[in-house]
Amino acid sequence: AQERFASIRDKPATTLCGTTIGMHMNAGLMADLPSLAGSGAEGVGLFRTELQFLVRNQMPKRSELSALYSKVLDSANGKRVVFRTLDIGSDKVLPYMKPNDEPNPALGWRAIRVGLDKPGVMRMQLQALLRAANGRPLTVMFPFVAQFDEFRAARAELDKTIAREQKLGHILPSKIEVGAMLETPSLAFAPRKFFEEVEFLSIGGNDLKQFFFAADRENERVRRRYDTLNVSFLNLIEQIVDRCNEVGTSLSFCGEDAGRPIEAMCFAAIGIRNLSMRPASIGPVKSLLRRVDLQELRKVIDASRDSGDQSVRPAVTDWLRAQS
Ligand code: PEP
Ligand code: MG
Repeated sequence: AQERFASIRDKPATTLCGTTIGMHMNAGLMADLPSLAGSGAEGVGLFRTELQFLVRNQMPKRSELSALYSKVLDSANGKRVVFRTLDIGSDKVLPYMKPNDEPNPALGWRAIRVGLDKPGVMRMQLQALLRAANGRPLTVMFPFVAQFDEFRAARAELDKTIAREQKLGHILPSKIEVGAMLETPSLAFAPRKFFEEVEFLSIGGNDLKQFFFAADRENERVRRRYDTLNVSFLNLIEQIVDRCNEVGTSLSFCGEDAGRPIEAMCFAAIGIRNLSMRPASIGPVKSLLRRVDLQELRKVIDASRDSGDQSVRPAVTDWLRAQS
């Protein structure tokens, strides 16, 4: 499939109206990294670090992790890699950790909640990341932040770890960027100060949609009921875009919908400027973006919203068909 899009691989995702959308890829295993060159991605917009923990049968050592992250940065060859700290719990249970018996794991003790309550593993991971960067830039993103103080606390952990590393005489990263995933509706309504403090945000659409519609992302029966192009969901995304723009915080969208051409195009029309997706989706998404005028599309979306449609999909697909 990538061959089909080879001719645009090194071209930007610039729309007919002249807007360029940043195309990034999702990764998690070493095997994903060769795709960074092959897909034409600008960088890794989401590196799911838990995958390395999930494929083992015991907790990895700090030195192993550090060597691995260093290899990731080597193969990225100067391109930005957004390392998301451990996102475990819910559907991602480590075989060597005591499972906790929770009635609703998706709403349970997971991701940053574990990282803050039992900071040992997160500290070890942060240390491994700092050592791997070893004078290079480092980008860290905390998953599943639901309220401002969770971000502040996670960031404080990172700052403490940096201070400790410095004392130990380790070379620090040349620059550190710290961001959060926006995967719970609550964070979209966080105080303005949060949007100012966080250096970047990435919308985790899989979880955000699940919690917005109260529909399990793993449950086909309910998942399909709610279209990603549902007006309510688009309104939420648009509000997040506006809040980020107000304070100049950079925003991206990761999660499976970023890799679906029609969805990606609609996100771009309402102001998303960076997308992160599986490498094989970059060609198809870019190909469509290069053929659309976002301002025209925006009018179609607005008209559909105004007319009370539940989803803008029918209007958008009719418009797209009329284009070709
Ligand atoms: C998401 O929730 O959209 C996301 C990117 O994270 P994950 O799919 O790993 O939960
Ligand atoms: Mg998620």
